[in-house]
Amino acid sequence: MSTEFDALFPESDVPFPYRCSNIDPNRKREPEGFATRSIHNGGDYRDQTGAVTPPIYATSTFEYGNAGGFDYTRSGNPNFRNLESVLQSLEKAEYATVFSSGVAAITAVVSTLQSGDTVLAEENVYGCTFRLFDRVFKKFGVDVTYMDFTDEANFEAIERLRPRLVWLESPTNPLLKIIDIERAAVHCHRAGATLLVDNTFASGFTQQPLQLGAHLSLSSTTKYINGHSDCLGGVVCTNDPKWAEELVFAQKALGLNPSPFDTWLIARGVKTLALRMKQHQANARGLAEWLEKKPGVKWVRYPGIPSHPDYMLACRQMRGGGSGVVVADLGLPLEQTRAFLQQLRFFKMAESLGGVESLICHPASMTHASVPREVREKVGITDAVVRFSVGIEELDDLLADLEAGFERVGAYARSYHLT
Ligand SMILES: *Cc1c(COP(=O)(O)O)cnc(C)c1O
Repeated sequence: MSTEFDALFPESDVPFPYRCSNIDPNRKREPEGFATRSIHNGGDYRDQTGAVTPPIYATSTFEYGNAGGFDYTRSGNPNFRNLESVLQSLEKAEYATVFSSGVAAITAVVSTLQSGDTVLAEENVYGCTFRLFDRVFKKFGVDVTYMDFTDEANFEAIERLRPRLVWLESPTNPLLKIIDIERAAVHCHRAGATLLVDNTFASGFTQQPLQLGAHLSLSSTTKYINGHSDCLGGVVCTNDPKWAEELVFAQKALGLNPSPFDTWLIARGVKTLALRMKQHQANARGLAEWLEKKPGVKWVRYPGIPSHPDYMLACRQMRGGGSGVVVADLGLPLEQTRAFLQQLRFFKMAESLGGVESLICHPASMTHASVPREVREKVGITDAVVRFSVGIEELDDLLADLEAGFERVGAYARSYHLT
């Protein structure tokens, strides 16, 4: 912002970072429930027209000196602000900054580091996070060490190595490991490290990292928050005004801003987050318990059922114990696993997760194809592992679809004398 502008509009007149004007900064903390906030926050567009649903502010620029403090859409737009207002309220954060995708949100955070800085990351982080660290930020001198944070001894490393940033994800993809966020936060605070939690797999309905002591909670809003598989987006929530300022800076300086239309879609999708998550959880639990009884299935993992190694932690840390993602080793050879995946009616074979529709994915040949076989298999991603993103359809229809899949595979195996 130019000095001229600063002289005309002293800082007290132009709120920075540009935050939702409908929220009184001295308000008492969130008296309403989650589902209510997801529908009623972000309504500051209503004043002049009474419109119940916000318009899409399809504008690249704003007339100089407007009351909202807008100048150019790369650094802010009323649709961004509506969405930020909802998301900050859902994670009980002071600030939220939206981006064009989850990867853009990750880029914004990592862009604040300097050459020579170190990051300590969970070894099962999202593939694109790993790729960004490994193929892009490494070139700029950011050094990343990976560790298994389900092994509590590794928390000590935070104080020993004193990284700038600790990067966790919980539940992880695709193994659904659960990391103790509260415990990690204690070590990060002692070491003076910033703790970031990628909350995409849980969603703010299920898990609230800032409440557990994290400094930054990042989500790909592409997944549960939008929930309809029709656009990409990302968000970072924080209570720290310095971080908020850096994130707004990254949004405009790196061109990581979303579009007004996409933020409008996500603000529309998030209104049903609570309802959707409850149905995702009920379906995922039902499907996991059904699969566990299926002969031949080697293991099933869902954090909200007692067979998960961190069931107790999952129940403590996540409302409902999980989201809609279930992983299982079907105990089938590769060809039969493929046959199973490709002919289902409701489970479309696709990457991504968190939409209303059920999806199924084969990590070994899709999301984790670039990971060498030995590495993959060592952590449990064999050719027989499948990941379900359980949607919100009727559970009985989903189970019937899978049952038919198992029958087709059985018939196939018999016809080739494989059994
Ligand atoms: C999808 C995803 C991302 C990246 O988000 P995009 O919106 O696809 O860029 C980051 N982290 C996790 C855990 C994800 O699942």
